Amino acid sequence: MIDKRPALIACCSGAADVIASVNFARAHNLLLAVRAGGHNIAGNATCDGGLMINLSRMKGLRVDPTHRTVRAEPGLTWAEFDQETQAFGLATTGGQISTTGIAGLTLGGGWGYLARQHGLSSDNLLSADVVTAAGRLVTTSASENEDLFWGLRGGGGNFGVVTSLEYRLHPLGKVMAGLVAFPIEKTREVLRFFRDFTGKAPDQLASGAVMITLPDGPAIIGIGVCYSGPLEEGERILKPLRSFGTPLIDQVGPMPYTGAQKLIDGLYPSGNQNYWKSSFFKEMSDEAIDTIAAHCLKRPSPMSHCVVEHQLGGAVRRIDADATAFNHRDAEYSFLCIGECAARADAQSCVRWAREFWQAMQPYASGAVYVNYLGQEADEGTERIKAAYGPKKFERLAALKKRYDPTNLFRLNQNIKPLA
Ligand SMILES: Cc1cc2nc3c(=O)[nH]c(=O)nc-3n(C[C@H](O)[C@H](O)[C@H](O)COP(=O)(O)OP(=O)(O)OC[C@H]3O[C@@H](n4cnc5c(N)ncnc54)[C@H](O)[C@@H]3O)c2cc1C
Repeated sequence: MIDKRPALIACCSGAADVIASVNFARAHNLLLAVRAGGHNIAGNATCDGGLMINLSRMKGLRVDPTHRTVRAEPGLTWAEFDQETQAFGLATTGGQISTTGIAGLTLGGGWGYLARQHGLSSDNLLSADVVTAAGRLVTTSASENEDLFWGLRGGGGNFGVVTSLEYRLHPLGKVMAGLVAFPIEKTREVLRFFRDFTGKAPDQLASGAVMITLPDGPAIIGIGVCYSGPLEEGERILKPLRSFGTPLIDQVGPMPYTGAQKLIDGLYPSGNQNYWKSSFFKEMSDEAIDTIAAHCLKRPSPMSHCVVEHQLGGAVRRIDADATAFNHRDAEYSFLCIGECAARADAQSCVRWAREFWQAMQPYASGAVYVNYLGQEADEGTERIKAAYGPKKFERLAALKKRYDPTNLFRLNQNIKPLA
């Protein structure tokens, strides 16, 4: 759905190229876009007529197995990152789709299969190098430029171009993961079960429910799981799910974490038309579940779907709410209404369905939204960006923006305008 033509694309190979590109854009008053993994639904990583800083060639990475840390460049995807850290039996929280970029995901917060156990991707960030709007390379961490470090962890790409990220790693062997799927007509019963099952979940269990038509398969409600503790314990924890009702598919089993990370990549092939609307649940009531079931029975295309994620809570909640700019530590479930299809001609009916579905869900939504799931500002509205941070954090971020980017050079993002 995003079809833009930058006048210039700077394919950077390091911080020096990024500094030169930022200085060039500032000097020539160019619209500036920053692309890392290129996965974001809002399409802010590209622009019409301006300069795109393309970081996708910056894929350097070095694991320090002794200190359990990794230094990584922003052009890496989670597939590339996980492959290297898992060579040492280590991992950190990444996204659930392996083709997503590490940089955009981390800067917005970042959750996935390990978040309930180890916190968000941004909670595991130890330091970052940033090229500011003035073209200065600064290092940020808990002890250096602390205010900027606070804002980077949730504030998106508002404060500069991140050229290097250092993460904490955790030991991780095989996980118990896979999909258990039922006919989509069973959505009500299965989502009620999912609510009870996840209500008792240990931190090691991350899961999500998806209502979709499988490629060359039936329309299903599937529960995808990843248990990242001892495998025998995983067998026991997942037994109620695997013995619920009569599943069409049960693919759960032990596998490498790198395999689990790719399990649902097939649901998001590149080149498709994609329109997302998302919120956090206030409560996953029976009425909310009925609303989901009703809309999933009238999906406009096989790929249009709904996802209910249970990736938050646990360690994410135990971290002080003010520790970083990310603002949803009390949330437990998020939902996404995703209109998806291959043909451009079908896109409008998918957009309509996602909007109507999301609107119908609002009585059960908290009013907040995850910044990384927001669409284009023109479509979502500026108030939704504020809703991603809440008034207190939004004001602190606007003050930080004034300090690091007073002219709003970095404005192609979920934009926080400099405090007036
Ligand atoms: C199919 C799919 C699955 C997803 N799954 C998850 C998930 O499991 N968990 C989750 O938390 N999120 C998930 N997301 C959302 C994801 O976190 C965002 O789309 C994220 O922005 C992707 O990062 P990227 O680097 O690939 O994107 P890009 O499109 O390259 O970048 C997005 C924006 O981030 C900023 N940015 C990126 N890199 C830098 C940098 N180095 N310096 C400064 N600014 C930068 C820019 O403003 C840019 O416009 C998913 C998205 C999709 C489409």
